[in-house]
Amino acid sequence: MNKIHIFIYLDSAGWEILRRNTFLPDILHYRYPVCSQLGDSVTSLTTALTGQPPNVHRHFGNYYYSPRHSLREMLEMLLHYLPCEEGRKAKTELMSGLFRKFRGYSWCFDHLSLPPGRLRFFDYAGRRDIFARGGTAPSKSIFDHLHENNIPHMISDWRKSEEQNLKDMLETIRRKQSQFCLLFMSGLDKILHHAPADEQKRADSLKHYEKQIENIISEAAVHYDKYSVSVMSGHGMTVRQSVINVKNIISRLDLSFGKDYIAFYDPTMVRFWYLDHEAKTIIVERLRNIPHTRILSGEEMHKYNINFADNMYGETVLLLDPGYQVEPNDHIRQSYPGMHGYAPEHEDSYGAFMSSHQPSPPPSWVGDLYHIMLAAVNDCIPEYFHKTA
Ligand SMILES: [Zn+2]
Repeated sequence: MNKIHIFIYLDSAGWEILRRNTFLPDILHYRYPVCSQLGDSVTSLTTALTGQPPNVHRHFGNYYYSPRHSLREMLEMLLHYLPCEEGRKAKTELMSGLFRKFRGYSWCFDHLSLPPGRLRFFDYAGRRDIFARGGTAPSKSIFDHLHENNIPHMISDWRKSEEQNLKDMLETIRRKQSQFCLLFMSGLDKILHHAPADEQKRADSLKHYEKQIENIISEAAVHYDKYSVSVMSGHGMTVRQSVINVKNIISRLDLSFGKDYIAFYDPTMVRFWYLDHEAKTIIVERLRNIPHTRILSGEEMHKYNINFADNMYGETVLLLDPGYQVEPNDHIRQSYPGMHGYAPEHEDSYGAFMSSHQPSPPPSWVGDLYHIMLAAVNDCIPEYFHKTA
């Protein structure tokens, strides 16, 4: 049987967004909201690729506390000598390219706005290419299963443009070279970050993706006896209501960064480590009084699977209410009109899974997407191996 399973990860195409816009209703008959995973976009994606939560795959944000790491020498040295912001941005982009090329750093520093003096306390979690074989070790990803079972496959390349990846996928389908395809698309995420409330822009963008997916399906229908197509996302997008300058609040305390405490300011969270016990008492007391935020309890850290034995991603996590953003933060100086990374239970945080075929069991959490893809991998294994396994 000549068959292909096609998965399209449409970043930020959350349940609320796809539901409102009736995305490909005549093709994707089976539609499910998918509870997101607290963390950044890569946290959700890594969870979808491995079926494991952050305290197993160990990605919960781009940066974690690691004061002895050599990232400090590599970046701080260069950034230190740059006098102006434009120069620093240019150098950051250059470093991003260099890291990609020579060090296997898979995600870039394009939006990094961490002051050089503070960079030395952190290491970059994105150094591993999660799309590569072994890229999520010790957790196995769907790519490891594809390689181990010698399934002919095509995975989009994040170094290439969306258009090029689409072209490559159409070509691999025309040539019947793959049985499993996974296309990662980030264009909608960009649009929703910048214009989350612009219904026309969102509808136009979704129409564009509908068209691309219809092209893929047409080719699959011509060249394969059987095909399945699924569109999925690990999270949605929440419109900005307001911003909170947590950095300013903390800097007004009589404490020193690097001596008493360390903090990393994400767009929707602030994570703290303490070098002095009294500092913890002072900071926690102050955080408790910031409106539209809450400190995650031990039970919540456990529930969200972000309880790390070594506190690598923070001893205290301050989470903002949906719609509020940390500004300034260490990723982007200015907040975006739209952001993700809020409590997974919030309606706008939900991701989605929509498919031409009924998944069994139906997904409810982003990690379940891995099991659906794994079922597709197993479906591609020749029957002989199924019988002897
Ligand atoms: Zn995003």
